[in-house]
Amino acid sequence: MDPELFPTPAGVDADDPILNLPKVSLHDHLDGGLRPATIVELAAEAGHEPPTTDPEALRAWFSESADSGDLPRYLETFDQTLAVMQTAPALTRVAREWVLDQVADGVVVAEARWAPEQHLRGGLTLDGAVEAVQAGIDEGTALAAQAGKSIRAGQIVTAMRQADRSQEIAQLALRHRDAGVVGFDIAGPEAGFPPAAHLEAFDMLHRAGFPVTIHAGEADGVESIHGAIHVCHAQRIGHGVRITDDFAQWAAAAAVDGVMGDVDGDGVETAPEMGRVAAWLLDQQVPLELCPSSNLQTAAATSIADHPVTRLKELGFAVTVNPDNRLMSATSVTREMRLLVDEAGWTIDDLEWVTVTALGSAFLPYGVREAIIDEQLVPGFSRAHL
Ligand SMILES: [Zn+2]
Repeated sequence: MDPELFPTPAGVDADDPILNLPKVSLHDHLDGGLRPATIVELAAEAGHEPPTTDPEALRAWFSESADSGDLPRYLETFDQTLAVMQTAPALTRVAREWVLDQVADGVVVAEARWAPEQHLRGGLTLDGAVEAVQAGIDEGTALAAQAGKSIRAGQIVTAMRQADRSQEIAQLALRHRDAGVVGFDIAGPEAGFPPAAHLEAFDMLHRAGFPVTIHAGEADGVESIHGAIHVCHAQRIGHGVRITDDFAQWAAAAAVDGVMGDVDGDGVETAPEMGRVAAWLLDQQVPLELCPSSNLQTAAATSIADHPVTRLKELGFAVTVNPDNRLMSATSVTREMRLLVDEAGWTIDDLEWVTVTALGSAFLPYGVREAIIDEQLVPGFSRAHL
């Protein structure tokens, strides 16, 4: 592949066999995955001053700010990306490169989530912004096809939970449901802004039969996940990592001897006791869009080795592995999987399992998902090794 068009993802060895596995990315923010060189160029056009105009130094600035543990510094990274995403040509370019970067990561199904209401400062309308992003997705998909690569990419239109435009954004999503928008989400500060505060929007989408995922159980706990599933009818949960709060023994068992489920320390694992929300997620196989590296930066988890994704997978939860913000976390699906293999003992079978789960959870028609399983996933994993 042309490395200009399809650059190897940050932090990934170009020879890593995981790179060539067919993968699925369900949780990847459009404004969290820009190429540093693109930010520099778009900033010059927009008259915006980035922290540095050297792309590699800028890449480091983003990951260091996100790693700092300082929330204002972390949030400033999004001020920088949003500042250069305020015109139709800029949104189209960012979306085109977003698709090309997915292809470079070996991703065959991807959903780009973003909040149109944050892209109106240059005079764009909500519909104009969605159309500009879709133009970029279409261009990126066509360029990939020319290079012999197949990708299905859709938009998840997001409303900001601290704002009051969710009904308007839900209507926007429905207007574009047959033109590239595949789902709806709310993002932004979770604590203090429960999903139920946007109930009118979620009820409208529920009645319209439109797919919904909700950021929940990242910065807030089980109650937030409960609201997302049982009040707002989400089909998937963005993150959901704090479902561990619904396990009586999660922290205690981990502290005993590192073996989750071995509550009494006798070396025998017993099924952990879980509350109704966790049991529902497990029994109904509600997909969880877990993002390990991102969770380390926001202190929702302490290490890759101890990240709940591994234990949740072993317990049978419908876990998927996602990058969240590729630029801020200097990551990609390949890198997240590599970290889980190296630091949490994941096998090729684990990678295939979460990939099949993610594809089955993607906001795509059933027939399309079946074809991708037969034509891409099964052959891709059958000749795979780590
Ligand atoms: Zn997110």
